[in-house]
Amino acid sequence: MDKQELLNIRADFPILSEKIYNKDLIYFDNGATTQKPRAVVEKIEEGYYHLNANIHRGVHYLSQKATEAHEAARITVAEFLKAGKHEEIIFTRGTTEAINLVATSFGEAFCKAGDEVVVSVMEHHSNIVPWQMLCERKGMTLRVIPANEKGELDIEAYKTLLNERTKIVSIAHVSNVLGTINPVAEVIRIAHQKNIPVLVDGAQSVPHIPVNVVELDADFYVFSGHKIYGPTGIGALYGKEKWLNAMPPYQGGGEMIATVTFEKTTYNELPFKFEAGTPEYIGSTALAEALRYVQAIGMDKIAAHEHDLLVYGTERLMEIEGMRIIGTADQKSSVISFLVGNIHPYDIGMLLDKLGIAVRTGHHCAQPLIDSLGIPGTVRASFAFYNTKEEIDVFVTALKRVVTMLE
Ligand code: PLP
Repeated sequence: MDKQELLNIRADFPILSEKIYNKDLIYFDNGATTQKPRAVVEKIEEGYYHLNANIHRGVHYLSQKATEAHEAARITVAEFLKAGKHEEIIFTRGTTEAINLVATSFGEAFCKAGDEVVVSVMEHHSNIVPWQMLCERKGMTLRVIPANEKGELDIEAYKTLLNERTKIVSIAHVSNVLGTINPVAEVIRIAHQKNIPVLVDGAQSVPHIPVNVVELDADFYVFSGHKIYGPTGIGALYGKEKWLNAMPPYQGGGEMIATVTFEKTTYNELPFKFEAGTPEYIGSTALAEALRYVQAIGMDKIAAHEHDLLVYGTERLMEIEGMRIIGTADQKSSVISFLVGNIHPYDIGMLLDKLGIAVRTGHHCAQPLIDSLGIPGTVRASFAFYNTKEEIDVFVTALKRVVTMLE
């Protein structure tokens, strides 16, 4: 990405020109949520000002236009993930709701006492707790794939965890703490040898690397709109038709039914069976706009620029005495978690904030991972395609100052 292109991109994100405590904002908390380009915000405005009517219900003009926009958004999401059929895309509130949907609905259809679910040590709470809840409901066991000291999955240990009781494997494509890009194609291939389906948590991958759910052969793939420059409150679940058809609805209500009598209700077909109630139809169209925005730049170009930032940021951070980078996998996305000496991550984050720099501190909703590493948490800088090496320079200078103050 050349300098002018980067400047043009940054100009699309008004918040990047804001001042925080009179300092230029440096936003390195993209793992938590991303900033929104003008096109996405304008799409939301256009939706509410010109296209707002409840969808799938009205015969009137606005309702039909809003329905068309929502269904077109579904096709955009399907194409983005390279899904075979757009009926395999279910809109959800985000990754968390999508995983809860599968844990509940797949669990209801396919799991019983004594069965097992496999996750990894580096999962976000939203890919642990829904499975734990399923295990509690059904009397099942959660099994955990360990990682090595670099933060890479132990594939040999993974193989030994799979057996005839394993009903599903659920794993992050990219760790939000370590940045590790997990070998999900291999994870899926190994599970499929035993006919075990795999859910991939794509919250941290979809915004950063090209994803093809059919090539991966993922059974379920989930992501959040707000982490890929779209609005909050919208995300998607991709599920293979054969699974989604065999799973009961997650929630009951309007839209998900075919017929209702007090004696019996029959359910709508895919994808509507899983979309009870009024969907986030303005959000879905704005999410589609966000996907078009990143596609116009190109996912390969985004991945290459962010990789440059990762390499440069890692090099520059290593200049600091006492620097310890948590997560040094060979395949990494643009996330750098670190600790400096014995300084508490929270103190670093607080002081960086005063210098206009937004980073994340704490356990990053991955408490079991942080506990397994025996650390209090980390400081996390997570980069997006609109970040620059110059911002990294300012960040490293600020961090050096902060470390001197805290040592
Ligand atoms: N999974 C991973 C790997 C994440 O990083 C996150 C959010 O940080 C989530 C799941 C949850 O996403 P959301 O809160 O958008 O549902």
